[in-house]
Amino acid sequence: MKLLLCCECQDVTKLLSQDRGCRCGKSHGKYVTDKVVEVTGPCEVLGLDNNTLDHGVTTLDQHPHGGPPVLAWVIPRGNPRVRRVSGGR
Ligand SMILES: [Zn+2]
Repeated sequence: MKLLLCCECQDVTKLLSQDRGCRCGKSHGKYVTDKVVEVTGPCEVLGLDNNTLDHGVTTLDQHPHGGPPVLAWVIPRGNPRVRRVSGGR
């Protein structure tokens, strides 16, 4: 899944097909296809690996001294699955 990280307010928001914004209102975005997102504002897009997230949630009880790791990364600028657009909502 893709998450919007606002560089102004540090809010992290899960991107959906409906436009969603951060707490300060400067960044927002949405999925425009099942793989491509469109974002606006001072933000970066994070990828969160669904497999390690699902595994981490389902095996949480097996890790009493520290949660299981989950893979996430910052999607590089210019990646074709992230479109940057200017303008308001
Ligand atoms: Zn913000």
